[in-house]
Amino acid sequence: MRILFIVFLLASGTVKAQLPIDSVATLIKNVYRQTYSEEKAYQWLTTLCKDIGHRLSGSPQAEQAVQWSKKTMDTFGLDRVYLQPVMVTHWLRGDKEQVTMKSKETGKIELKALALGNSIGTGPDGVSGEVIEVHSIDELKELPEDQIRNKIVFFNRAMDKGLTNTFAAYGGAADQRYWGPKEAAIKGAKAVVIRSLCSATDDHPHTGSCFYADTIRNIPAVALSTKDADVLTQAVRAGQTELFIRTTCQMLPDIQSYNVIGEIKGTEYPDQYILVGGHLDSWDVGDGAHDDGAGCVQSMETLYRLKKMGYQPKHTIRCVLFMNEENGLKGGKEYARVAQEKNEYHLAAIESDAGGGSAQSFGCSAGEGVVLDDRLKYLDTYINTLLSPYDLELKPGGGGADIGPLKPNVGLMIGLRPESARYFEYHHAETDVLENVHPRELASGSAALISLVMVLDQYRIGDE
Ligand SMILES: [Zn+2]
Repeated sequence: MRILFIVFLLASGTVKAQLPIDSVATLIKNVYRQTYSEEKAYQWLTTLCKDIGHRLSGSPQAEQAVQWSKKTMDTFGLDRVYLQPVMVTHWLRGDKEQVTMKSKETGKIELKALALGNSIGTGPDGVSGEVIEVHSIDELKELPEDQIRNKIVFFNRAMDKGLTNTFAAYGGAADQRYWGPKEAAIKGAKAVVIRSLCSATDDHPHTGSCFYADTIRNIPAVALSTKDADVLTQAVRAGQTELFIRTTCQMLPDIQSYNVIGEIKGTEYPDQYILVGGHLDSWDVGDGAHDDGAGCVQSMETLYRLKKMGYQPKHTIRCVLFMNEENGLKGGKEYARVAQEKNEYHLAAIESDAGGGSAQSFGCSAGEGVVLDDRLKYLDTYINTLLSPYDLELKPGGGGADIGPLKPNVGLMIGLRPESARYFEYHHAETDVLENVHPRELASGSAALISLVMVLDQYRIGDE
């Protein structure tokens, strides 16, 4: 009865000033109930994953995802839904990768591999070379050039299983993938293979971006499944080992695409924004379910649910589905460029791009000119009272790739941190499918985002 009463008041527009904290608590309770009961995010994720599929920037599926998410948000009754044009990276994987290992001890063995995103191809004839194994870019740099020239460099540093935080383990190994190909090219290598950034030992290779330098000749790069990386290291230790690699990837000119944006206008501070978002593009394997279909549907649900419950925000609430996070970040950069040009101040930007697991906390960094400690101290009362019943807290440190470029125009950059013990078994691999997302875990992320948006909406700039 009480819930209904408050919702009625909000819907009729009679509540304007800062809501009493127990009213917000009741609204949040309602959000959790509705979000868990309806499983709206999971329904949308099913369409995105199974009717559209994976969505690499520039692909027909990425375009379908843009049209579908706009059409879906059009049904919410928002104040505005629009497409923000952006030119994005257009990379094609080409034929199925072929990687064959040859050594005296083992003979010929096919290894499971995926080309790294943005990698050049070997061409139809492939490349062959002797393998030299290293475990870090520093180790590579210390080796004399004649030991690297014309060889295939194998970066084999595993994610550190001893770390409880899988994101920290990923961060500790990812430089091999980002910069390994460039550094090996500088030393005259023919190609690069890396051990997949995967927290398990299994058969699935994991792709992901690599970056080249403009000043040197680029070389092809692939990731091996962790099991096959173990096979390769055993062969290398036993004696001379050769690889044959064939990939036909291509980088085409940038292509037109869009960020998809939905908006509920603020009643008191319409020119101050609270953004919630994820990235609509994914890698071209699996469904892109955890990365980042989950973040997109949770962000869509934020606006859907606020509108449905008749919540009238004081600040303008925006859902932004960014394009091209995976292999260019062009959507995030363009959104920030336009925000700066229009002088749109964002009170907070919240990104969900850490998978669809159970929501655990939010990680938070300050934008330019904001003292994080002061703001967190101010928000502490709200957060403790309103979100701790759901075991959520706001911790220092974090944010997201897409909202990073917004730093000059944002107060707080916040990343949702879900439970992530298994996330790096799915991340950028064919295992990132809908079947590995649980509806209630996904719902917990939606509810957490919606609740945080309502909490932040109570905040006024300068109140601290
Ligand atoms: Zn992602």
